Amino acid sequence: MIALVLFGSPGSGKGTLSQYLTEWMGVPQISTGDMLRQHIKAGTAIGSSVSGRMRAGTLVSDEVVNRLVEERISEPDANKGFILDGYPRTVDQAEEMMRLAAGRKAEVVVIHLVVDYNVIISRLTGRRVCPVCGTLYNAVSRPPKTPGKCDLDGAALEVREDDREDVVRARLEEYERRTMPLIEFFRSRETRLFAVEAGNESPEQVFRSVQADLKNVFEMAGR
Ligand code: AMP
Repeated sequence: MIALVLFGSPGSGKGTLSQYLTEWMGVPQISTGDMLRQHIKAGTAIGSSVSGRMRAGTLVSDEVVNRLVEERISEPDANKGFILDGYPRTVDQAEEMMRLAAGRKAEVVVIHLVVDYNVIISRLTGRRVCPVCGTLYNAVSRPPKTPGKCDLDGAALEVREDDREDVVRARLEEYERRTMPLIEFFRSRETRLFAVEAGNESPEQVFRSVQADLKNVFEMAGR
């Protein structure tokens, strides 16, 4: 069983890579950001407790995301493994994640997507998302076939509320201050950590290099 952590700054391509990996590995993508946005949309108590921080681009409480992840990985479709997208983002969350993985005898593999700062800004400001199926596009680097429309279902693509420039800056600051230190945390624990260049490469190229790293892990585990 594998707990695959996609690690990287906002705009590093975690969501896009998840969409490739979940299909290839047959395990679910667990995106705390998506789960929180669904709570906001559904008007739940969790949604109203996190919406202010999300709009401002700051992290929500560890307790809320830890609980969401624990519940989600207890569902049957996650019993062969799961892909964590956007979690953990703080040392407390990372400790909780290690505990949850150990409880399931899951091997933790971390993929660190390394992307240059300027590329991140242009990716985040060009990002578009399908409100129906969640497919991600980029106005410049990954445009839909018909401008403004999802290739899969034709829905009008949307800009995420927190992809505005001032909010993007806050999100990147949070990443540097609270999430970057996790690289040292992962190095100090029993995790496999792979750094993958993901700035100028196409999503397919990034997927292929991650696939190569993961095949090594699977072979070593005798799978
Ligand atoms: P994302 O879609 O991963 O970029 O997340 C969007 C926003 O959701 C972040 O800016 C945070 O406000 C919140 N969020 C998502 N995941 C986490 C997490 N693991 N810890 C704290 N806040 C999170």
